[in-house]
Order: sequence, then C-alpha cells, then structure tokens
Amino acid sequence: MEKREQLYEGKAKKVFATDDPTLVLVSYKDDATAFNGLKKGTIEGKGAINNRVTNYLMQLLEKNGVPTHFVQELSARETLVKKVAIVPLEVIVRNVAAGSLAKRLGLAEGTVLSRTVLEYCYKDDALGDPMVNDDHIAAMGWATEAEMATIRAYALTVNRVLGETLRDLNIELIDFKLEFGRLADGTIVLADEISPDTCRFWDTVTREKLDKDRFRRDLGGVEDAYHEIMKRLMGE
Ligand code: ADP
Ligand code: UDP
Repeated sequence: MEKREQLYEGKAKKVFATDDPTLVLVSYKDDATAFNGLKKGTIEGKGAINNRVTNYLMQLLEKNGVPTHFVQELSARETLVKKVAIVPLEVIVRNVAAGSLAKRLGLAEGTVLSRTVLEYCYKDDALGDPMVNDDHIAAMGWATEAEMATIRAYALTVNRVLGETLRDLNIELIDFKLEFGRLADGTIVLADEISPDTCRFWDTVTREKLDKDRFRRDLGGVEDAYHEIMKRLMGE
C-alpha cells in the first residue's frame, strides 16, 4: 500500500489517498479544538492515543455485529480504512445529561436519562452543526429511511457494547458521537473515530471526567485522562 496525496485536512485528522481507490489512510493529529473551532490547542500524544483507542473499539464492535471502516493500523498515528461517502450527520447517543443537552433542557449535568436518547446534527461547520430530525434528513436526502433505521440500530448496539465494556473498567459512558458512511455498494459502515475526543467518559467511583471536557473546560490533566482511558481499555 502506498500513501498518496492528501485529500482532506480536518480539525483532528488528515485523510490521504492510497494506491487502492477503495482505501484511505487516516492520520491522527495532536491538535484539539472545541466550541466549533473557537478554542484551539494541542494535547500531547492525543493523536496516537485516539488512533489506538479507536482501532481497539472498532475491532470490538466488528466482533459484535457492527460493520466498520477499519482495515489495518499502520503506525502510531496512521490507520488504513475503507473509503466511504460520509453520511453528513453526527449521530449523538446519550445515557446521562451533559454538555449541550444539559444546557438546552436545563438539566443538571449527571441527570440519568430514563432511556437512551439519539440526536442527529447536520455536519456543517459554517452552520454550527445544527440539530435535525428524521424528517429533515429524509427531506434533504441526506440518508434514506432504511439507512436511518440501520444507523439507529448500529448506534444502539455501539451503546450497549461500549457501555458494558467500559462499566467493567469503572468508566461510565455518558454520551458519544458517531459517524457512518456508505461503501461503493451502498453498505452502511461505522466510520470516523471513537475516542476521548468524541465521547464523555466519567470514572464510576470518583465521577472524574476522563475526556475532552478536561480541555473544553480547562480542568487540567488532559493528557493523563486520555492515557488513563487507553490504559484501562488496552492495559497500556
Ligand atoms: P472534521 O472534518 O470535523 O474537522 P476530522 O479532523 O476528524 O474532522 O477529519 C476527518 C474527516 O474524515 C471527517 O470529515 C470524517 O467525516 C472523514 N472520514 C472519517 N472516516 C472516513 C472514511 N472511512 N472515508 C472517508 N472519510 C472519512
Ligand atoms: N461531540 C463530538 N463532536 C461534535 C459534537 C459533539 O464528538 O462536533 C460529542 C461530544 O464529545 C459528546 C457528545 O458528542 O461526547 C455530545 O456532545 P454535546 O452535544 O453535549 O456537545 P458539546 O457539549 O460538545 O458542545
């Protein structure tokens, strides 16, 4: 496999073409942003941790019936993945009120939701990723109703598998964001990343935050928290 031209540089990752038109190479950066790019910084070692944690979780999910884009970890921060056409939605899954939901509904952070809540945001930085519903998604043609049924089922499976795995490690899965894409034949697969950048993880015992909120809210100990998640999951 040969690395070719850069196709895209995002806030947290770069995407490169390869000599195989069905595969792309993802390279994870240490750059961190929050509040739609308003807050910028660097989290030392983040790229390598997010690469390894994402790949570990993607493989766990594959074994549990969720098809993913994962192909092969190439190096500390680079991974080969199946190229997809991204469904332009952030699929947010919530178990406990935090962040924008706590603010929007006036709930105390940490309020346990009586059932899992799914939200969709249209991926558009210029619009600030507005929240949309199934009717908007169908009307705009971002995904079909059948695709959304698949995406919803996969998102709930991810929540169950991740939630159970993390609970055994004394980590509570508060909420997280997923992205899905279509392979050339239309198959829906889980894409992008699953990491402390895209999830809220709280220590079950101390209630300490072990995720990007430490960066967003200037809580300190950002690098240590990312390390702790990798260590509990992968033992290193
Ligand atoms: P952002 O675009 O939000 O700044 P990143 O820095 O994480 O995010 O950039 C990675 C980009 O790659 C995102 O736009 C994401 O949707 C896209 N992407 C993730 N997985 C794949 C894939 N398998 N094939 C093509 N694009 C992907
Ligand atoms: N999230 C994400 N990318 C985004 C927005 C949210 O990964 O662009 C994740 C975030 O880390 C959290 C969950 O989705 O785990 C819910 O985020 P929320 O809507 O509360 O937004 P925030 O508080 O980040 O503004």
